[in-house]
Amino acid sequence: MNRRLYTRFRNLMPDIYSKKLTGFLFQIKIKPRINKSIKSPFEKGIISFSADFEMAWAFRFSKSIKNATEMGLRERENFPEILKLFNDYSIPVSWATVGHLFLDQCKKEQEIAHPEMFRPAFFENRNWHYKEGDWYDHDPCTDYTEDPAWYAPDLIDKILESPIKHEIACHTFSHIDFSYNNCTPELAKSELERCKKLASNKRITLKSMVFPGGTAGNYEVLKEAGFNSYRKPMHYDVDLPYKDKYGLIAIPSSSAMDGKPEYFSAQQYLKMAKSFIDSAIKHKLVCHFWFHPSMNPWYLKYVLPSVLKLVFDYRTNNEIEILTMQSIANRILKND
Ligand SMILES: [Zn+2]
Ligand SMILES: [Zn+2]
Repeated sequence: MNRRLYTRFRNLMPDIYSKKLTGFLFQIKIKPRINKSIKSPFEKGIISFSADFEMAWAFRFSKSIKNATEMGLRERENFPEILKLFNDYSIPVSWATVGHLFLDQCKKEQEIAHPEMFRPAFFENRNWHYKEGDWYDHDPCTDYTEDPAWYAPDLIDKILESPIKHEIACHTFSHIDFSYNNCTPELAKSELERCKKLASNKRITLKSMVFPGGTAGNYEVLKEAGFNSYRKPMHYDVDLPYKDKYGLIAIPSSSAMDGKPEYFSAQQYLKMAKSFIDSAIKHKLVCHFWFHPSMNPWYLKYVLPSVLKLVFDYRTNNEIEILTMQSIANRILKND
């Protein structure tokens, strides 16, 4: 079955069956899919982590989540524990940050939120259904103390003040669908430029991109804006990054780190994560875990610490390297 058809088929399955199928594929070792035919230029396996740091913005117009603010607040609640875990284990993360989170406040101008920004036309995709109103209707247009689900300059500062060097990456300004279908080059450009400007106020240069909801596209604009890498779901879960035809480095996306206790036990989640890492070690490839900081608090408490401990131990034994998206891209560009 081709990949697209398979993905469509999987998306139609009720969640619980889809997860059971995943568990079965791990048991019979069909997952993770590993690119065994490629010759690796790396001396050891590389593990990377990226976070879709988006607060409430990702859940506007959502088909499955009713309350965006609630998710933003859950992300805020989880955040200190997540950052502490990564810092304690000295594991850097590429925080793909929604640009609006840099703001400590915003105000309506003549009744309009962000009149300076382009808007997408109405659209529908796998995750979102935007069919009426203004793109910024959910924006509270207050500040981060009054509406902490929509702004997060304080959390960004916490990342920057960390004892280890994390990467701040980009997740667009307003969590738009970045695909060619639903985003014009003008819109793409205005989102990226705004993010770059806000980041530069904190002396950050954005180089890595995580497309919201996997809506890849507008690569020319990305390149033009000075970006050089993005996260990409590939045929293989554990694979090598490569330079695409735009000169950008596509970094494989291996597995999401999130889950509910209804699907698998903490032990099973850990075992699955370990199989990705072991494959990366064995074949000297890249395993790239990604997560939403709004993850299920059960997963945060019972699974994430053991995955990070495992990665930490592997690095202590000199079996892996842990790199941000940007460090991976730089290495590929240097070796090019
Ligand atoms: Zn705003
Ligand atoms: Zn997102």
